[in-house]
Amino acid sequence: MIGWDSELDRVLGAKTAKALDGAFGISTVGDLLRHYPRRYAERGELTPIGGLEIGEHATVLARVERVDKRRMRSRRGTILQARITDGTRSLSCTFFNQAWRERELSPGRRGMFAGKVTAYRGELQLAHPEYQLFSEDEDSDEQGAARDFAGALIPVYPAAQGIPSWSVGRCVAQVLDGWEGVRDPLPESLRQRVGLVSLEEALRLVHRPDNLTQVNQARRRLKWDEAFGVQLALAQSRQRQGTRPAPSCPRRGGGVAEAFEAELPFTLTEGQREVGERIAEDLSGERPMNRLVQGEVGSGKTVVALRAMLQVVDAGRQAVMLAPTEVLAAQHARSLRELLGRFGRAGELGAAEQATRVRLLTGSLPAARRKQALLDAASGAAGIVVGTHALLQDGVSFAELGLVVVDEQHRFGVEQRDALRERAGERSCPHLLVMTATPIPRTVAMTVFGDLRTSALRELPRGRAPISTTVVPSAEKPAWLERAWQRVREEVAEGHQVYVVCSRVGDESGETSSTETGELQAAPERGESGQRTPVSVLDLAEWLRRGPLEGLRLGVLHGRLPSEDKDAVMRRFADGETDVLVATTVVEVGVDVPNATMMVIMDADRFGMSQLHQLRGRVGRGDSPGLCLLVSAAMPQSPARNRLDAVASTTDGFELARLDLQQRREGDVLGAAQSGRRSTLRMLSLVHDEELIATARAEAEEFVEPDPELRDHPGLAAMVTELVDEDRADFLEKA
Ligand code: ADP
Ligand code: MG
Repeated sequence: MIGWDSELDRVLGAKTAKALDGAFGISTVGDLLRHYPRRYAERGELTPIGGLEIGEHATVLARVERVDKRRMRSRRGTILQARITDGTRSLSCTFFNQAWRERELSPGRRGMFAGKVTAYRGELQLAHPEYQLFSEDEDSDEQGAARDFAGALIPVYPAAQGIPSWSVGRCVAQVLDGWEGVRDPLPESLRQRVGLVSLEEALRLVHRPDNLTQVNQARRRLKWDEAFGVQLALAQSRQRQGTRPAPSCPRRGGGVAEAFEAELPFTLTEGQREVGERIAEDLSGERPMNRLVQGEVGSGKTVVALRAMLQVVDAGRQAVMLAPTEVLAAQHARSLRELLGRFGRAGELGAAEQATRVRLLTGSLPAARRKQALLDAASGAAGIVVGTHALLQDGVSFAELGLVVVDEQHRFGVEQRDALRERAGERSCPHLLVMTATPIPRTVAMTVFGDLRTSALRELPRGRAPISTTVVPSAEKPAWLERAWQRVREEVAEGHQVYVVCSRVGDESGETSSTETGELQAAPERGESGQRTPVSVLDLAEWLRRGPLEGLRLGVLHGRLPSEDKDAVMRRFADGETDVLVATTVVEVGVDVPNATMMVIMDADRFGMSQLHQLRGRVGRGDSPGLCLLVSAAMPQSPARNRLDAVASTTDGFELARLDLQQRREGDVLGAAQSGRRSTLRMLSLVHDEELIATARAEAEEFVEPDPELRDHPGLAAMVTELVDEDRADFLEKA
């Protein structure tokens, strides 16, 4: 009998097993059965050729249109070219020295063709195609391909060179025929409640369905298992957080928090007040806070975090604030000091009596300052320490750490958060506050951030000037771009500052500079791929300096600069000593220069919608209205252009996040969110399966609450282990 863990070389033979392993990393029966069809083709249908993407390995159902054979001029031999069609568009398949295929590939015959999609002289091609023809008489013929494609639905598998979809299908069929089945990990009662078929049935149906109803039944069950496994793991993680106590930091009257608030130059928004209350409550408890605050760019998250940090300081503990880059850390330290005023200058002249001390602690600090900061952290003299994540990795010691604030780090996965905590506190577990300006759709919040409680700041402080956004189509309307540079000059003439953002730094080795041509915008370079090389920071800055922005004070900022330089450039811009900052997305998060009123984003189509939204949030932070220009060569109605139009048409970040999610592939969402970890969700969709995820979350809570280790449900415990890969399981063990 063939079991779940049977090795494929035993079942399918060494050669086939090796090929599957090489192509997909599949080595057991279980692996193969989890290699689900990507889609199903109906017997009579043809695959729309227009929908193919260049570079993908595609499986196409098509009809042979015509076949041409010719002699190669340079060498001896023949080229056979078959054009296949979906009825509208066609695609060519080229075979070298296989003239005999002419007999098989007669016009009118249908089949599946597989290969990598390439483009040659504007024509789509399948490179090194493999094919399997259907029998000529679809209804009666019993042999050959017809047997493999007997069902009405043909599963189309993720395939690879040398292993076309139909070979995968044949292996699966062989395995299923001798498979002993598998025990269902889900309790019967749960299956009934949610309406799910058994695991064995789901696996059989997903590979060999007779109709779409069966496909849907199978998919629902398999998706459920993914959603449920993740939710069980998260529920366990939430439970575990309660086991190591956090330092309780109740509010204290007469401390720095109260004094600071009394002198705040503005009134808190409703949202800031509300979220503040939640956090204050969390902090006063012994259960470690684990909270995510989402708030639009400019919604005032910093002051929310600061109030939390001060409450912790009043309780005699310390807070650290972590930023993703040194630039941001430096800026946070500055703006915290500024906000705090005399309350942040303990030990200095003119400090308030309750004052605490803010210390920046980064790798690039001069040795003496770094030493002082380390001392202040260790002695407790610094109530607030600001740095990057390296700060905790480097094992900096604190006298009494009570709170970790992580800013703009939505790409941080569950494990990183747990690890962070682990390192942060030896005796106790500090409270954790994560802040993000990227609004997170509910499904993502439930899955990727399922271990966090979330709250949102939905309103912007009053008096904030609106940002208007316009797309500048540089290909169709080059004059608009010229006008844009003029507009930059006008803005600067009025005493304001401007960001110009590029997707690339430039000056990579082997790259030719386009500054020489002096026609950077008008005649964009085209690379070999036919795609325009995106404008780079270095090239553009040089070109602007000599051309349209001559005489203005330009700064250049990008990730390759040494940290000290970055900091200096940023500081000059913040102090108004630079008019225009040409930069990469280093300016994306958290940068706050209220006098900056305009942003020009070059090759805007290279950025995601949420990212553009974040970027433009850098302007219009003062009282003057903000202007954002999205420069792009994307054609009207192209998907890229539609995305830009969407960004221009709304300033609702939550709406854009939803659209962004729909546009991306699932793997990207989870991949990015879990920082590169292989996604364990093969079938579950964060876009479409909201209801299923919500149900799974509620059910998981029910199981884990009374039985955190799932001792009464070994099947469920095994599901969790199957989902989380080894080192993560390892990690959960330790925590
Ligand atoms: P973000 O949420 O993007 O991090 P910040 O915390 O940097 O936003 O706040 C943006 C600006 O708004 C800062 O200059 C801050 O001082 C100011 N601000 C914050 N809260 C208020 C408020 N309630 N009223 C007026 N201005 C505020
Ligand atoms: Mg911020």
